[in-house]
Amino acid sequence: MPPMPQLNDFYTEGFGWICRHCERQFEREHTADESEAEYKDPEPANRPLAKWTDKTRRFLTCPRCGITEAAELS
Ligand SMILES: [Zn+2]
Repeated sequence: MPPMPQLNDFYTEGFGWICRHCERQFEREHTADESEAEYKDPEPANRPLAKWTDKTRRFLTCPRCGITEAAELS
């Protein structure tokens, strides 16, 4: 298995790329909610997953904050 590229703005947990910026915001929103019942594990679908901008999989973009980074594997 080829090594995953190390990106400044995204990281992968194996099932997809997650925006570091939105992940921080996401966790702030969840930890700030301490008055809400008990902590629930975030569903992957609720996390800020990035998308490829095209079929060549060269650029990742975050649909939430709009950041884009080149992620060339070669
Ligand atoms: Zn983002």
